[in-house]
Amino acid sequence: MTQDVDIVVVGAGSAGLAAAHTTLSLGLTVQVLEAKSRIGGRAFTDEIAGMPWDRGAYWLHDAHNNFYATYAAETGFTFDRMMRSQYFWSAGAWADDALKLDRDAFYDAAFDAVDRAGAAGLDIAASEVIADHPRWRPMFDSWYAALSGAEPEYCSTLDQSRYADGENFRVRPGYGALVTEYGKGLPISLSSPVDRIRWSGADVRVETAKGTLRCRAVIVAVSTTALIRGGVRFDPVLPSAVCEAIESLPLGTAEKVAIAFDRDIFGLPDNSHVHSEHATRETLRFQIKPGGHAIAVGYLAGRFAEELEAAGEPAMVDFTERKLVEVFGSDILRARVGTAATHWRSDPLIGGGYSYAVPGAAEQRKVLRQPVGERIVFAGEACALTAFGTVHGAHRAGVKAAQNAAAFIRPTVKA
Ligand SMILES: Cc1cc2nc3c(=O)[nH]c(=O)nc-3n(C[C@H](O)[C@H](O)[C@H](O)COP(=O)(O)OP(=O)(O)OC[C@H]3O[C@@H](n4cnc5c(N)ncnc54)[C@H](O)[C@@H]3O)c2cc1C
Repeated sequence: MTQDVDIVVVGAGSAGLAAAHTTLSLGLTVQVLEAKSRIGGRAFTDEIAGMPWDRGAYWLHDAHNNFYATYAAETGFTFDRMMRSQYFWSAGAWADDALKLDRDAFYDAAFDAVDRAGAAGLDIAASEVIADHPRWRPMFDSWYAALSGAEPEYCSTLDQSRYADGENFRVRPGYGALVTEYGKGLPISLSSPVDRIRWSGADVRVETAKGTLRCRAVIVAVSTTALIRGGVRFDPVLPSAVCEAIESLPLGTAEKVAIAFDRDIFGLPDNSHVHSEHATRETLRFQIKPGGHAIAVGYLAGRFAEELEAAGEPAMVDFTERKLVEVFGSDILRARVGTAATHWRSDPLIGGGYSYAVPGAAEQRKVLRQPVGERIVFAGEACALTAFGTVHGAHRAGVKAAQNAAAFIRPTVKA
């Protein structure tokens, strides 16, 4: 029986694009099938009132070890290393340094406690090792969710301790625009949702409403939550160990709300970050004037983000505007020219922000990276060992998945 291509890649996010590039570079044929009418997945630069904003990824994390930082430099995408300004709003005024230092000391001690537990091999809920604090703990928990995908009680200490941190860069035209550039020229079929993968025969059959593609291996570069929700069916069903790995690496919730203005009404430097003191986890953080544009972007995370997103866009925008007014006054809304909110959580093709390992599941990322039956290889940020939850981690996972698939298609290729 002949195949249509050597490898089919499901999903054209960062991982799928990296898998396709790598497959081609190894001399094999590839076809990418993407359900949406665009590529990039969770890296998506949109426009609001004529200004670019990233609905998903914005920061090139760990920029000195990040493929996209090198790629941006090679392709002429301007990027910068500018340190962001941090502002802290407390009790109706900008907090002084002493208060910020007090908060930061608690945050640093809490992150250290999680890292120490992980370094000691403890795979337990991060909440078990973080001290209580009457003032800073609820805010810390929300911040932890923004960084890790979910609040400390849901996340593994060991997994968190493996995350490789580093300097953050940003690309001026947007991270989504950069990833889209990276995908140009690849054989990608858009608006082609994969419904079922049949993998028991001599070849693999990848079924879409447009038809079936036959290949020797399939790389599934779809988020874990999209898989948990049954977005792709497998026939036969996946081994139970693989299902367990997928289920123990779900996406947390990360959403953004953008408010656009007709001019700069903030009086703060570009790319300022504003955190407000809050006694509960029901809070958000602002990025003010990302890339110098007159936009405030509210960052929502964790269970509160999940509830607010479920309540709908008007509720998300209303909460964000109320928080903005608390800091900048109600007059600013007169200069408002547009609003937008993301819905990553309820998007059936995505399902949330980024993956976290539940307590006890830190080793599951390694399980998910293992090829299944010399037919299926998973890619995607959840398969990254030290850069999970990121665009560059997804890229690394895509490269590795293609190398693994090529190795069993053509045993001379080194994985
Ligand atoms: C609000 C937010 C902020 C973030 N901020 C940052 C940041 O600053 N820096 C950073 O590095 N990362 C950030 N991230 C995380 C980053 O965006 C992701 O980790 C990364 O983009 C994931 O890439 P991926 O290829 O693994 O998956 P995805 O981008 O989810 O791509 C999967 C693709 O598969 C497609 N698909 C799904 N089901 C099917 C199907 N059945 N058939 C065909 N195609 C299908 C989807 O449409 C999608 O295009 C952020 C994410 C969010 C949501």
